[in-house]
Amino acid sequence: MKIKSVKAFPIEFPLDFPAQDATGIWYNWSTVIVKVTAENGVAGYGEIGPIHGGGIPAFTGLIEHRLKDLVIGQDCFDRERLYERMVGRGTSAYAFGAKGAAVSAAAGIDIALWDLTGKLLQTPVWNLLGGCVHDKIPAYASGFFGIKGRALTAEESGEEAKSYADQGFKGVKMKIGFGLEQDMKNLEAVRNALGPDLGIMVDANQCFDYPDLMRNMEYYKAFNLTFIEEPIRINDLYNMANLAVNAGVPIAAGENYYTKYEFREVIEKRAVNIIQPDIIHAGGISETKKIAAMADAYDIPLCPHIHASVAVSAAIHLLASCSNSLASEYITSGGSYGLRKELCGNCCMVKDGFVPVPQEPGLGIVVNEKVFEKYYPKWLR
Ligand SMILES: [Mg+2]
Repeated sequence: MKIKSVKAFPIEFPLDFPAQDATGIWYNWSTVIVKVTAENGVAGYGEIGPIHGGGIPAFTGLIEHRLKDLVIGQDCFDRERLYERMVGRGTSAYAFGAKGAAVSAAAGIDIALWDLTGKLLQTPVWNLLGGCVHDKIPAYASGFFGIKGRALTAEESGEEAKSYADQGFKGVKMKIGFGLEQDMKNLEAVRNALGPDLGIMVDANQCFDYPDLMRNMEYYKAFNLTFIEEPIRINDLYNMANLAVNAGVPIAAGENYYTKYEFREVIEKRAVNIIQPDIIHAGGISETKKIAAMADAYDIPLCPHIHASVAVSAAIHLLASCSNSLASEYITSGGSYGLRKELCGNCCMVKDGFVPVPQEPGLGIVVNEKVFEKYYPKWLR
């Protein structure tokens, strides 16, 4: 079945107030949805980004002015060959680089091709990935973003943690890196709100130096953390590996690594205890399936980074098909959740701490295309 068209839809979803983590602040939630249509009119959807504030034209430009021409007229079932055509050797696409924006843009098309293939074959994507290992995925609540240009207070952190516990989540992930004193106050409030049995994960977004973190690790460890995410610069694989052995808390990372090649190095150097590829950064479903398999061979659990709309479902299908799946990240704030609800309806909505795996063909999403027009960035018109 030949590919007839490829289209990129930029979206800028407004926020009531700016959100932030240890690395930056965002004033709206931006993403790019990709639609690939076969010659019989059936369409699949993928996603690029999302990007904290800006950068959208770079991604739509990559789709519209480069990648589109590489896949239109090709057989939509040939996901492996087309991924290589978009980012691999032997095409001028390679000139854009084999990580970063170029890989994210290719990932958007790759995800859409898997959705399209599933719809054409009338089977869920997880069935194409090897079948079902898990029919529901445990989800941890991820959030605790700073608001209004500041970190959350301890009181706000405790309230947010309690709301997640009330919704049935078995664990939460909170932002740290706002100074040891504030971090300790927030962690204490969250632990008090959750009680001793629910999990606490922390995300430093690469903000610590290795010596400082080792000096303060005992304070963080006191809260019985499930894992610490991106504690230091993720390209410092030597010290990431030191932490993975010596920190006393499992080290997780992956949202800022791209392609199987980069993950191969991370895994071979034992730089993480838990791997967190983001399907829309790492290279789509085709590439992330390989990354998950590599991690499995090293007994490293898969816990993908997920902060998307359409691509949430792509990550859930992957988790459903992998034997080393640990849990799904689940964000309900910061913009991506509001957009997801409008764009994807009830697909992959958490219930009692688990995300049910879609059983419908493809990714199992009915995309509301009216959202494309509603949130088209005004500055791009
Ligand atoms: Mg993170």
